[in-house]
Amino acid sequence: MATNIIIIDDHQLFREGIKRILEFEKSLQVVAEGDDGSEVLTLVEEYRPDIVIMDINMPQMNGVEATRKLIEKYPKTKIIILSIHDDENYVTHALKTGAMGYLLKEMDADTLIEAVRVVADGGSYLHPKVTHNLVKEYRRLAAGESAARVSPYVPAEIRRPLHLLTRRECDVLQLLADGKSNRGIGDALYISEKTVKNHVSNILQKMNVNDRTQAVISAIKNGWVKVR
Ligand SMILES: [Mg+2]
Repeated sequence: MATNIIIIDDHQLFREGIKRILEFEKSLQVVAEGDDGSEVLTLVEEYRPDIVIMDINMPQMNGVEATRKLIEKYPKTKIIILSIHDDENYVTHALKTGAMGYLLKEMDADTLIEAVRVVADGGSYLHPKVTHNLVKEYRRLAAGESAARVSPYVPAEIRRPLHLLTRRECDVLQLLADGKSNRGIGDALYISEKTVKNHVSNILQKMNVNDRTQAVISAIKNGWVKVR
């Protein structure tokens, strides 16, 4: 069954680009488009999409406000935010309103498709660069907390989870925490994107998490990756 998608963005050319990329995949179908957040309720009522892809900056009602209104009325709607901002305040704000995904407009086609798939399956998806910023922020906060309790000179010790993952999977996990996309990981390790995807799905299964964001957060908490 196809995943039905609505795109809300005030730039027609950008909407068309997204639509073209999504419809290249047989299982994804763009059923409606709107150019302002104020249209989203009407469109969702009419088309009942699986996913709403929502721009943040729009002239009348912005994407965060529209997300809030939409979640209020249809709490199960899966919303992916599109933004040019990768700083943590924007991301946290958008996620607090109930969005399940956060993409940067600089994304590549594969990232867009992967995000839609993951969110359609009930997971959450953050652009790799956004994940990296959140990880850095988390690390900063955690370092602040431990510095208050223990000596600040204790070096952060990294223990690779070799009881759980293969060496190669540990490398992939580290590159996920570095904010690399599948393509970026493939380039770094000289392996194909398909092989990267296999490694990632094995990592998720072994770590018992639903998506790569959860895997990175869990790896940070356990001290399994460096934040660099
Ligand atoms: Mg806009």
